[in-house]
Amino acid sequence: MTRLVLVINCGSSSIKFALRREGDRKPLLSGLAERLGSGRATLEWRTDDKREEKTLDDGEHATAMAALLPLINDHADQPLTAVGHRVVHGGEHFTHAQRIDDDVVEAIEANAALAPLHNPANLTGIRAAMAVFPGIAHVAIFDTAFHQSMPAYAYRYALPEALYQEHGIRRYGFHGTSHQFITRQASELTGRKHGQGAWLSAHLGNGCSSCAVLDGRSMDTSMGLTPLEGLVMGTRSGDVDPNLHAHLGRTLGWDLPRIEKLLNRESGLLGLSGLSNDMRQLEEAAAGGHAGAKLAIEVFCYRLARSLLGLCAALPRLDGLLFTGGIGENSAKVRARTVEHMGAMGLKLDANANSNAARGAAAAIHVESSPAIWVIPTDEERQIADESLALLDH
Ligand code: ADP
Repeated sequence: MTRLVLVINCGSSSIKFALRREGDRKPLLSGLAERLGSGRATLEWRTDDKREEKTLDDGEHATAMAALLPLINDHADQPLTAVGHRVVHGGEHFTHAQRIDDDVVEAIEANAALAPLHNPANLTGIRAAMAVFPGIAHVAIFDTAFHQSMPAYAYRYALPEALYQEHGIRRYGFHGTSHQFITRQASELTGRKHGQGAWLSAHLGNGCSSCAVLDGRSMDTSMGLTPLEGLVMGTRSGDVDPNLHAHLGRTLGWDLPRIEKLLNRESGLLGLSGLSNDMRQLEEAAAGGHAGAKLAIEVFCYRLARSLLGLCAALPRLDGLLFTGGIGENSAKVRARTVEHMGAMGLKLDANANSNAARGAAAAIHVESSPAIWVIPTDEERQIADESLALLDH
């Protein structure tokens, strides 16, 4: 009988979940508990044909998790085999999925300094789920694990050795489940065996990162110690001159929390456009002549192309460029403008294929003379479910 996995992605005020059957493309049930801890918590869930919602009195994480139990029981035709948990930062401890035990919990706690917002929230979810779903395997899947294959020359900053050895200051990379999933898909779609191929992958959602993947191994990626490094994102600046901190401190008297807020929440597409962090809204505004929206899209695409071209240094050849995430899957304009900047690698889009790429389906969008360019919908929950089961099979 095919097995069932519950996938949990727990944030500081939300729990995303999906009930997946092994091998299925779509979840049997998925949903979101939001505004946890605010006194206005809600739980919504949907199946293929229905969407329902309820308020959660005393909406803390534990209450929300307990509310999942009857839902899962209603939709599962057999007991769960595993619960797969997304964990943001695995540091250097974790290169693969881990069955969660006391040691793993301790190591996730130890990495909290590197992801102070995310790891504690992920642990809250793990503890709540272990209480509600006892006696089965709980598995941690780390956003960073896929990138542990990067060579030292890609993951080390040019900083004194002691900062790396004693404090773990290095590049880690994130979005690993997504880059791994779409590059595996690309290998399958192009008839390659065992995840082979030399790919550039662009995950463009609210957070954005690029990655060079060779034969199923991450060789380099745009995010670093934290998810702030690299590309322009919805509200994150991506790369800036590291001296900006000192400059803002000296000239404006800003302290570190103020600068962190600037770079993480007020910058990126939002900061450049002065309008929105949402690409769809920016495209509409740009079409209507909004100068800030136009500039934001231009900077986003140029910086993305520059990052992707830079990542070619990590590959011996290029088998294809892959776009995914809300922007990568849906914005023909972003794909077109980005690829226009990549002529140096011989990349060229088929304009019709690009604008006709159907929502939710993989599509090749390059002309014949160009290296392959694909749109591939990501499915991080499926990757988490697959990895959870693969771990149990070992
Ligand atoms: P998250 O990283 O939170 O999972 P998503 O992957 O859903 O986010 O991506 C959200 C981004 O995708 C937003 O900027 C949104 O505007 C953009 N997006 C979604 N649909 C479209 C579309 N049709 N055209 C352009 N951008 C889109």
